[in-house]
Amino acid sequence: MVAFVQPERIEVDALIFGGGICALWTLARLRREGYSALALEASALGNGQTVASQGIIHGGVKYALGGLIGDASRAISRMPEIWSACLAGRGEIDLSSARVLSDACYLWTTPRIGARLAGVAASRAIRAAPRRVAPQDHPPALRDAPRSVDVYRVGEPVLDVPSVLHAIADRHQSALMRVRFPDGVRLRRSADGIDHATIRDADREVEIHARRYLFCAGAGNADYLARLGSAVASFVRMQRRPLHMVAMIGDLPMLYGHAIGPSTTPLLTITSTRNAAGATIWWIGGGLAEEGVHRDGSEQAEAARLQVATLMPWVQTEDTVVRTVRVDRAEGAQAGGVRPNGPVVQRVGNAVFCWPTKLALAPQAASMLIKEMPETPAHAQPMIAWERPPVARPPWEQD
Ligand SMILES: Cc1cc2nc3c(=O)[nH]c(=O)nc-3n(C[C@H](O)[C@H](O)[C@H](O)COP(=O)(O)OP(=O)(O)OC[C@H]3O[C@@H](n4cnc5c(N)ncnc54)[C@H](O)[C@@H]3O)c2cc1C
Repeated sequence: MVAFVQPERIEVDALIFGGGICALWTLARLRREGYSALALEASALGNGQTVASQGIIHGGVKYALGGLIGDASRAISRMPEIWSACLAGRGEIDLSSARVLSDACYLWTTPRIGARLAGVAASRAIRAAPRRVAPQDHPPALRDAPRSVDVYRVGEPVLDVPSVLHAIADRHQSALMRVRFPDGVRLRRSADGIDHATIRDADREVEIHARRYLFCAGAGNADYLARLGSAVASFVRMQRRPLHMVAMIGDLPMLYGHAIGPSTTPLLTITSTRNAAGATIWWIGGGLAEEGVHRDGSEQAEAARLQVATLMPWVQTEDTVVRTVRVDRAEGAQAGGVRPNGPVVQRVGNAVFCWPTKLALAPQAASMLIKEMPETPAHAQPMIAWERPPVARPPWEQD
Protein backbone atom coordinates (compact mmCIF):
# COMPACT_ATOMS: atom_id res chain seq x y z
CA MET A 1 0.00 0.00 0.00
CA VAL A 2 1.33 3.46 -0.84
CA ALA A 3 0.79 5.93 2.00
CA PHE A 4 -0.02 9.47 0.95
CA VAL A 5 2.09 11.84 3.00
CA GLN A 6 0.65 15.30 3.41
CA PRO A 7 3.46 17.80 2.77
CA GLU A 8 4.39 20.02 5.70
CA ARG A 9 3.32 23.62 5.15
CA ILE A 10 5.35 26.65 6.15
CA GLU A 11 4.58 30.35 5.76
CA VAL A 12 7.29 32.97 5.62
CA ASP A 13 7.63 36.60 4.60
CA ALA A 14 10.51 35.87 2.21
CA LEU A 15 11.84 32.74 0.57
CA ILE A 16 15.32 33.34 -0.81
CA PHE A 17 16.86 31.16 -3.50
CA GLY A 18 20.66 31.01 -3.32
CA GLY A 19 23.32 31.23 -0.62
CA GLY A 20 25.99 33.59 -1.94
CA ILE A 21 26.72 37.05 -0.56
CA CYS A 22 23.51 38.51 -2.00
CA ALA A 23 21.25 35.89 -0.42
CA LEU A 24 23.06 35.87 2.93
CA TRP A 25 23.26 39.66 3.34
CA THR A 26 19.57 39.93 2.43
CA LEU A 27 18.64 37.13 4.85
CA ALA A 28 20.49 38.84 7.70
CA ARG A 29 18.93 42.25 6.94
CA LEU A 30 15.42 40.84 6.60
CA ARG A 31 15.63 38.98 9.90
CA ARG A 32 17.06 42.01 11.66
CA GLU A 33 14.07 44.02 10.44
CA GLY A 34 11.63 41.46 11.82
CA TYR A 35 10.77 39.59 8.64
CA SER A 36 10.76 35.81 8.63
CA ALA A 37 12.97 34.37 5.91
CA LEU A 38 14.51 31.12 4.70
CA ALA A 39 17.31 30.69 2.14
CA LEU A 40 17.60 27.63 -0.09
CA GLU A 41 21.13 26.72 -1.23
CA ALA A 42 21.68 24.10 -3.95
CA SER A 43 25.31 23.19 -3.18
CA ALA A 44 27.61 25.18 -0.87
CA LEU A 45 27.27 28.77 0.31
CA GLY A 46 28.99 31.17 -2.07
CA ASN A 47 29.74 28.53 -4.69
CA GLY A 48 30.01 30.33 -8.02
CA GLN A 49 31.12 33.92 -7.81
CA THR A 50 31.35 34.81 -4.11
CA VAL A 51 34.11 32.39 -3.09
CA ALA A 52 35.88 32.99 -6.41
CA SER A 53 35.86 36.74 -5.85
CA GLN A 54 38.97 38.67 -4.91
CA GLY A 55 37.31 40.03 -1.79
CA ILE A 56 38.04 43.68 -2.59
CA ILE A 57 35.53 46.11 -1.14
CA HIS A 58 35.81 48.62 -3.95
CA GLY A 59 35.18 52.27 -3.25
CA GLY A 60 35.16 53.29 -6.90
CA VAL A 61 38.81 53.90 -7.70
CA LYS A 62 38.94 51.05 -10.20
CA TYR A 63 35.93 52.51 -12.00
CA ALA A 64 37.38 55.98 -11.98
CA LEU A 65 40.68 55.03 -13.59
CA GLY A 66 40.94 56.78 -16.91
CA GLY A 67 38.85 59.66 -15.63
CA LEU A 68 35.55 57.76 -15.78
CA ILE A 69 33.97 59.21 -12.64
CA GLY A 70 30.36 58.32 -13.26
CA ASP A 71 27.36 56.60 -11.73
CA ALA A 72 29.28 53.40 -10.99
CA SER A 73 31.95 55.24 -8.95
CA ARG A 74 29.38 57.25 -7.05
CA ALA A 75 27.15 54.24 -6.25
CA ILE A 76 30.02 52.24 -4.87
CA SER A 77 31.83 55.00 -3.01
CA ARG A 78 29.90 54.44 0.27
CA MET A 79 30.51 50.70 0.35
CA PRO A 80 33.87 50.54 2.22
CA GLU A 81 32.28 52.60 5.03
CA ILE A 82 29.24 50.31 5.30
CA TRP A 83 31.40 47.17 5.30
CA SER A 84 33.85 48.65 7.83
CA ALA A 85 31.00 49.34 10.26
CA CYS A 86 29.79 45.73 9.86
CA LEU A 87 33.33 44.39 10.35
CA ALA A 88 33.62 46.45 13.52
CA GLY A 89 30.37 44.89 14.80
CA ARG A 90 28.34 48.12 14.69
CA GLY A 91 26.82 47.98 11.21
CA GLU A 92 23.61 46.80 9.60
CA ILE A 93 24.79 43.18 9.90
CA ASP A 94 27.43 41.66 12.18
CA LEU A 95 30.66 40.69 10.42
CA SER A 96 32.86 41.05 13.48
CA SER A 97 34.11 37.46 13.14
CA ALA A 98 35.15 37.91 9.47
CA ARG A 99 38.83 38.25 8.62
CA VAL A 100 40.30 41.34 6.95
CA LEU A 101 43.28 40.30 4.81
CA SER A 102 44.40 43.85 4.14
CA ASP A 103 43.14 47.32 5.16
CA ALA A 104 44.04 48.70 1.78
CA CYS A 105 44.85 47.97 -1.84
CA TYR A 106 47.91 49.27 -3.66
CA LEU A 107 48.09 50.57 -7.19
CA TRP A 108 51.44 50.46 -8.90
CA THR A 109 52.17 52.17 -12.14
CA THR A 110 54.58 54.30 -14.20
CA PRO A 111 55.07 58.07 -13.74
CA ARG A 112 53.07 58.79 -16.93
CA ILE A 113 49.99 56.97 -15.62
CA GLY A 114 50.61 58.36 -12.16
CA ALA A 115 49.36 61.72 -13.37
CA ARG A 116 45.99 60.16 -14.07
CA LEU A 117 45.85 58.68 -10.59
CA ALA A 118 46.53 62.11 -9.13
CA GLY A 119 43.38 63.28 -10.97
CA VAL A 120 41.37 60.46 -9.44
CA ALA A 121 42.78 61.28 -6.01
CA ALA A 122 41.53 64.81 -6.35
CA SER A 123 38.01 63.73 -7.17
CA ARG A 124 35.42 64.25 -4.45
CA ALA A 125 33.33 61.46 -5.99
CA ILE A 126 35.77 58.90 -4.62
CA ARG A 127 35.82 58.71 -0.83
CA ALA A 128 38.70 56.25 -0.67
CA ALA A 129 41.01 58.25 -2.94
CA PRO A 130 44.50 56.90 -3.66
CA ARG A 131 47.45 58.47 -1.81
CA ARG A 132 51.01 58.26 -3.06
CA VAL A 133 53.23 56.04 -0.90
CA ALA A 134 56.86 56.96 -0.21
CA PRO A 135 59.33 54.21 -1.28
CA GLN A 136 60.20 53.32 2.33
CA ASP A 137 56.50 52.59 2.99
CA HIS A 138 55.92 50.36 -0.03
CA PRO A 139 54.38 46.94 0.81
CA PRO A 140 56.94 44.08 0.77
CA ALA A 141 55.97 42.90 -2.73
CA LEU A 142 56.69 46.36 -4.18
CA ARG A 143 59.72 47.24 -2.04
CA ASP A 144 62.24 46.24 -4.72
CA ALA A 145 60.41 48.06 -7.53
CA PRO A 146 62.56 50.63 -9.40
CA ARG A 147 62.01 54.32 -8.58
CA SER A 148 60.20 54.83 -11.89
CA VAL A 149 57.27 52.78 -10.53
CA ASP A 150 54.81 54.89 -8.53
CA VAL A 151 52.87 53.23 -5.74
CA TYR A 152 49.54 54.48 -4.40
CA ARG A 153 47.51 53.25 -1.44
CA VAL A 154 43.74 53.25 -1.48
CA GLY A 155 41.58 52.48 1.55
CA GLU A 156 39.65 49.64 -0.06
CA PRO A 157 39.85 46.63 2.31
CA VAL A 158 40.35 43.07 1.12
CA LEU A 159 38.41 40.37 2.94
CA ASP A 160 38.81 36.65 3.46
CA VAL A 161 35.55 35.80 1.70
CA PRO A 162 34.86 32.36 3.26
CA SER A 163 35.13 34.01 6.70
CA VAL A 164 32.52 36.59 5.65
CA LEU A 165 30.16 33.80 4.58
CA HIS A 166 30.77 31.99 7.89
CA ALA A 167 30.14 35.18 9.87
CA ILE A 168 26.64 35.44 8.40
CA ALA A 169 25.79 31.73 8.05
CA ASP A 170 26.81 30.84 11.61
CA ARG A 171 24.24 33.30 12.98
CA HIS A 172 21.46 32.20 10.65
CA GLN A 173 21.99 28.42 10.47
CA SER A 174 18.37 27.66 11.29
CA ALA A 175 17.20 29.74 8.29
CA LEU A 176 19.47 27.95 5.78
CA MET A 177 18.37 24.83 3.92
CA ARG A 178 20.33 22.72 1.49
CA VAL A 179 18.15 21.66 -1.44
CA ARG A 180 18.69 19.18 -4.28
CA PHE A 181 18.42 21.06 -7.54
CA PRO A 182 16.73 20.46 -9.96
CA ASP A 183 14.68 17.51 -8.64
CA GLY A 184 14.25 18.69 -5.05
CA VAL A 185 12.73 22.10 -5.82
CA ARG A 186 9.40 22.80 -7.54
CA LEU A 187 7.69 26.12 -8.11
CA ARG A 188 3.90 26.28 -8.42
CA ARG A 189 2.93 29.31 -10.45
CA SER A 190 -0.07 31.56 -9.77
CA ALA A 191 -1.66 34.61 -11.38
CA ASP A 192 0.51 36.84 -9.16
CA GLY A 193 3.72 34.97 -9.98
CA ILE A 194 4.41 32.10 -7.57
CA ASP A 195 1.88 30.34 -5.34
CA HIS A 196 4.39 28.26 -3.39
CA ALA A 197 7.66 26.33 -3.60
CA THR A 198 7.93 22.67 -2.71
CA ILE A 199 11.22 21.26 -1.49
CA ARG A 200 11.87 17.60 -1.13
CA ASP A 201 14.53 15.32 0.29
CA ALA A 202 14.56 11.50 0.43
CA ASP A 203 11.55 11.11 2.73
CA ARG A 204 10.05 14.52 3.25
CA GLU A 205 8.24 17.23 1.35
CA VAL A 206 7.75 20.81 2.54
CA GLU A 207 5.52 23.40 0.90
CA ILE A 208 6.79 26.92 1.50
CA HIS A 209 4.33 29.77 0.99
CA ALA A 210 6.04 33.16 0.92
CA ARG A 211 4.90 36.72 0.41
CA ARG A 212 7.96 37.36 -1.72
CA TYR A 213 10.22 34.93 -3.57
CA LEU A 214 13.69 36.48 -3.81
CA PHE A 215 15.97 34.97 -6.45
CA CYS A 216 19.60 35.59 -5.43
CA ALA A 217 21.18 32.48 -6.95
CA GLY A 218 23.72 34.21 -9.21
CA ALA A 219 24.01 32.27 -12.48
CA GLY A 220 21.45 29.82 -11.01
CA ASN A 221 18.76 32.52 -11.43
CA ALA A 222 18.71 31.56 -15.13
CA ASP A 223 17.32 28.11 -14.23
CA TYR A 224 14.50 29.65 -12.21
CA LEU A 225 13.73 32.11 -15.02
CA ALA A 226 13.48 29.18 -17.42
CA ARG A 227 11.06 27.40 -15.04
CA LEU A 228 8.86 30.44 -14.61
CA GLY A 229 8.38 30.76 -18.37
CA SER A 230 8.00 33.73 -20.65
CA ALA A 231 5.59 35.66 -18.37
CA VAL A 232 8.65 36.40 -16.19
CA ALA A 233 11.61 35.63 -18.44
CA SER A 234 10.57 38.19 -21.06
CA PHE A 235 10.94 40.97 -18.43
CA VAL A 236 13.96 39.70 -16.53
CA ARG A 237 17.17 38.75 -18.30
CA MET A 238 20.61 37.71 -17.13
CA GLN A 239 24.01 38.14 -18.78
CA ARG A 240 27.26 36.32 -18.14
CA ARG A 241 30.67 37.95 -18.46
CA PRO A 242 33.33 35.23 -18.35
CA LEU A 243 36.70 35.42 -16.63
CA HIS A 244 39.73 33.13 -16.83
CA MET A 245 41.34 33.57 -13.40
CA VAL A 246 44.85 32.50 -12.44
CA ALA A 247 46.18 31.05 -9.17
CA MET A 248 49.97 31.48 -8.84
CA ILE A 249 51.13 29.36 -5.91
CA GLY A 250 54.53 29.40 -4.23
CA ASP A 251 56.91 31.40 -2.10
CA LEU A 252 55.48 34.82 -2.92
CA PRO A 253 55.10 38.02 -0.85
CA MET A 254 51.54 38.94 0.12
CA LEU A 255 50.11 41.57 -2.23
CA TYR A 256 46.73 43.25 -2.65
CA GLY A 257 46.12 45.60 -5.53
CA HIS A 258 46.19 46.52 -9.16
CA ALA A 259 48.90 46.95 -11.79
CA ILE A 260 47.73 49.97 -13.72
CA GLY A 261 48.24 50.28 -17.46
CA PRO A 262 46.92 52.53 -20.18
CA SER A 263 43.41 51.02 -20.27
CA THR A 264 40.54 51.53 -17.81
CA THR A 265 40.82 47.91 -16.60
CA PRO A 266 43.86 47.16 -14.41
CA LEU A 267 46.36 44.94 -16.22
CA LEU A 268 46.47 42.65 -13.20
CA THR A 269 44.49 42.57 -9.98
CA ILE A 270 46.22 40.46 -7.35
CA THR A 271 44.96 39.37 -3.93
CA SER A 272 46.77 36.91 -1.70
CA THR A 273 46.09 34.19 0.80
CA ARG A 274 47.99 31.23 2.23
CA ASN A 275 47.14 27.54 1.89
CA ALA A 276 47.44 24.90 4.63
CA ALA A 277 51.00 24.09 3.47
CA GLY A 278 52.03 27.71 4.04
CA ALA A 279 52.41 28.59 0.35
CA THR A 280 51.10 31.94 -0.86
CA ILE A 281 48.36 31.97 -3.47
CA TRP A 282 48.21 34.99 -5.70
CA TRP A 283 44.65 35.03 -7.04
CA ILE A 284 45.01 37.03 -10.23
CA GLY A 285 42.25 38.76 -12.18
CA GLY A 286 41.96 42.10 -13.99
CA GLY A 287 42.67 42.48 -17.71
CA LEU A 288 44.56 39.18 -17.75
CA ALA A 289 41.39 37.29 -16.71
CA GLU A 290 39.15 39.21 -19.13
CA GLU A 291 41.40 38.86 -22.17
CA GLY A 292 42.30 35.28 -21.21
CA VAL A 293 38.81 33.89 -21.83
CA HIS A 294 39.87 33.04 -25.39
CA ARG A 295 43.00 31.17 -24.25
CA ASP A 296 43.11 27.57 -23.13
CA GLY A 297 44.47 26.76 -19.66
CA SER A 298 48.11 26.36 -20.61
CA GLU A 299 48.10 29.47 -22.82
CA GLN A 300 46.55 31.44 -19.96
CA ALA A 301 49.13 30.12 -17.48
CA GLU A 302 51.89 31.13 -19.90
CA ALA A 303 50.35 34.59 -20.42
CA ALA A 304 50.15 35.04 -16.64
CA ARG A 305 53.81 34.20 -16.14
CA LEU A 306 54.82 36.59 -18.90
CA GLN A 307 52.62 39.43 -17.64
CA VAL A 308 53.85 39.11 -14.03
CA ALA A 309 57.48 38.93 -15.18
CA THR A 310 57.00 42.04 -17.33
CA LEU A 311 55.11 44.14 -14.80
CA MET A 312 56.95 42.96 -11.67
CA PRO A 313 60.39 41.77 -12.77
CA TRP A 314 61.68 42.26 -9.22
CA VAL A 315 59.53 39.35 -7.88
CA GLN A 316 60.88 35.77 -8.18
CA THR A 317 58.16 33.60 -9.74
CA GLU A 318 60.20 30.84 -11.46
CA ASP A 319 59.41 28.23 -8.79
CA THR A 320 55.68 28.90 -8.62
CA VAL A 321 52.90 26.58 -9.80
CA VAL A 322 50.23 28.20 -11.98
CA ARG A 323 46.62 26.99 -12.29
CA THR A 324 43.75 28.61 -14.13
CA VAL A 325 40.02 28.64 -13.34
CA ARG A 326 37.11 29.76 -15.51
CA VAL A 327 34.25 31.54 -13.75
CA ASP A 328 31.41 33.66 -15.12
CA ARG A 329 30.16 36.88 -13.62
CA ALA A 330 26.33 36.67 -13.60
CA GLU A 331 24.57 40.03 -13.85
CA GLY A 332 21.30 41.64 -14.88
CA ALA A 333 21.40 41.96 -18.66
CA GLN A 334 22.51 45.33 -20.11
CA ALA A 335 22.42 46.67 -23.66
CA GLY A 336 25.69 45.64 -25.29
CA GLY A 337 26.52 43.30 -22.40
CA VAL A 338 28.36 46.02 -20.47
CA ARG A 339 28.83 45.93 -16.68
CA PRO A 340 25.74 47.28 -14.88
CA ASN A 341 26.34 50.48 -12.88
CA GLY A 342 24.98 48.92 -9.71
CA PRO A 343 22.87 46.01 -8.45
CA VAL A 344 20.05 44.92 -10.77
CA VAL A 345 16.74 44.16 -9.02
CA GLN A 346 13.64 43.32 -11.04
CA ARG A 347 10.23 42.34 -9.72
CA VAL A 348 7.43 40.54 -11.56
CA GLY A 349 4.44 39.96 -9.27
CA ASN A 350 5.74 38.40 -6.06
CA ALA A 351 8.98 37.16 -7.67
CA VAL A 352 12.03 39.43 -7.35
CA PHE A 353 15.31 38.73 -9.14
CA CYS A 354 18.60 40.25 -8.03
CA TRP A 355 22.19 40.33 -9.19
CA PRO A 356 24.40 42.56 -6.97
CA THR A 357 27.04 43.05 -9.73
CA LYS A 358 29.79 43.26 -7.08
CA LEU A 359 30.47 41.67 -3.72
CA ALA A 360 31.02 45.20 -2.43
CA LEU A 361 27.50 46.15 -3.52
CA ALA A 362 25.73 43.43 -1.50
CA PRO A 363 24.49 45.97 1.11
CA GLN A 364 22.90 48.07 -1.65
CA ALA A 365 21.39 44.98 -3.31
CA ALA A 366 19.86 43.90 0.03
CA SER A 367 18.37 47.37 0.59
CA MET A 368 16.83 47.30 -2.89
CA LEU A 369 15.34 43.86 -2.23
CA ILE A 370 13.91 44.97 1.11
CA LYS A 371 12.17 47.87 -0.67
CA GLU A 372 10.30 45.21 -2.67
CA MET A 373 8.96 43.55 0.51
CA PRO A 374 5.49 44.25 1.94
CA GLU A 375 5.89 47.07 4.47
CA THR A 376 5.27 45.05 7.61
CA PRO A 377 6.29 41.50 8.56
CA ALA A 378 3.38 39.04 8.87
CA HIS A 379 4.82 35.66 9.78
CA ALA A 380 6.94 34.30 12.64
CA GLN A 381 10.30 32.72 11.79
CA PRO A 382 9.66 29.00 11.12
CA MET A 383 11.86 26.44 12.86
CA ILE A 384 12.55 23.51 10.61
CA ALA A 385 15.00 20.64 11.02
CA TRP A 386 16.74 20.23 7.65
CA GLU A 387 20.22 19.66 6.23
CA ARG A 388 22.27 22.89 6.43
CA PRO A 389 24.59 23.88 3.57
CA PRO A 390 28.35 24.14 4.20
CA VAL A 391 30.43 27.15 3.14
CA ALA A 392 32.09 26.62 -0.27
CA ARG A 393 35.86 26.27 -0.53
CA PRO A 394 37.72 28.76 -2.72
CA PRO A 395 38.47 27.59 -6.28
CA TRP A 396 42.19 27.03 -5.68
CA GLU A 397 41.29 24.54 -2.92
CA GLN A 398 38.78 22.68 -5.09
CA ASP A 399 39.83 19.77 -7.33
C1 LIG B 1 36.57 35.97 -10.33
C2 LIG B 1 35.72 37.05 -9.71
C3 LIG B 1 36.30 38.00 -8.90
C4 LIG B 1 35.50 38.99 -8.30
N1 LIG B 1 36.08 39.88 -7.46
C5 LIG B 1 35.32 40.80 -6.85
C6 LIG B 1 35.90 41.70 -5.91
O1 LIG B 1 37.09 41.64 -5.60
N2 LIG B 1 35.09 42.63 -5.34
C7 LIG B 1 33.76 42.71 -5.64
O2 LIG B 1 33.10 43.60 -5.10
N3 LIG B 1 33.18 41.86 -6.50
C8 LIG B 1 33.91 40.90 -7.11
N4 LIG B 1 33.34 40.01 -7.96
C9 LIG B 1 31.89 40.04 -8.16
C10 LIG B 1 31.19 39.30 -7.00
O3 LIG B 1 31.88 38.11 -6.69
C11 LIG B 1 29.75 38.96 -7.36
O4 LIG B 1 29.08 40.10 -7.81
C12 LIG B 1 28.99 38.43 -6.15
O5 LIG B 1 29.74 37.47 -5.45
C13 LIG B 1 27.68 37.79 -6.62
O6 LIG B 1 27.06 37.22 -5.50
P1 LIG B 1 25.71 36.41 -5.65
O7 LIG B 1 25.31 36.03 -4.28
O8 LIG B 1 24.73 37.16 -6.49
O9 LIG B 1 26.07 35.13 -6.54
P2 LIG B 1 26.98 33.85 -6.24
O10 LIG B 1 28.14 34.17 -5.42
O11 LIG B 1 27.24 33.22 -7.57
O12 LIG B 1 26.05 32.92 -5.37
C14 LIG B 1 25.01 32.16 -5.89
C15 LIG B 1 24.62 31.13 -4.86
O13 LIG B 1 23.44 30.47 -5.28
C16 LIG B 1 23.65 29.08 -5.25
N5 LIG B 1 22.81 28.49 -6.29
C17 LIG B 1 23.10 28.37 -7.62
N6 LIG B 1 22.06 27.80 -8.25
C18 LIG B 1 21.10 27.58 -7.32
C19 LIG B 1 19.79 27.04 -7.36
N7 LIG B 1 19.25 26.60 -8.51
N8 LIG B 1 19.06 26.99 -6.21
C20 LIG B 1 19.58 27.42 -5.04
N9 LIG B 1 20.83 27.93 -4.94
C21 LIG B 1 21.57 28.02 -6.07
C22 LIG B 1 25.14 28.89 -5.46
O14 LIG B 1 25.59 27.63 -4.98
C23 LIG B 1 25.69 30.06 -4.67
O15 LIG B 1 25.79 29.77 -3.29
C24 LIG B 1 34.11 39.02 -8.56
C25 LIG B 1 33.53 38.06 -9.39
C26 LIG B 1 34.32 37.07 -9.95
C27 LIG B 1 33.65 36.03 -10.81
